Amino acid sequence: MIRKGTRIYSILHKKCPRCQEGNLFISGAYTKKFMEMPSKCPVCQLNYEPEPAFYTGAMYVSYALQVALFTTIYVALRVLFNPAMEVYFIAMIGIPVVLAPVTLRLSRAIYINFFFSYDPEWIKTTANHDGTVAAQKN
Ligand SMILES: [Zn+2]
Repeated sequence: MIRKGTRIYSILHKKCPRCQEGNLFISGAYTKKFMEMPSKCPVCQLNYEPEPAFYTGAMYVSYALQVALFTTIYVALRVLFNPAMEVYFIAMIGIPVVLAPVTLRLSRAIYINFFFSYDPEWIKTTANHDGTVAAQKN
């Protein structure tokens, strides 16, 4: 069980990195709008795109995930089945294409977690939830 307050919780559950309650994405991975994100967290108002083209850097995370996926597919096929070359070709194209929505969303969730941390005091210290701090932290 992954507990709330860790980055891995935010990444795997696709939750806001600051409050870990608001969703990072509007809909599910296998829907038409699988990459659409709200502009701000519906709970703590964290701006999900702090600068233009913020998620361009997520391409590097996506690249790392794809390399890990290719390696896993190759090793699994080689060790378990040792199939013909055509099977490798089909599996190494097909599986990443089918999993593309999952890896793209995961790469964005990982990338935004590089820049923001869990802050359980945030909701308590904001009165109007517009992003401005209304009360001082103790
Ligand atoms: Zn939030």
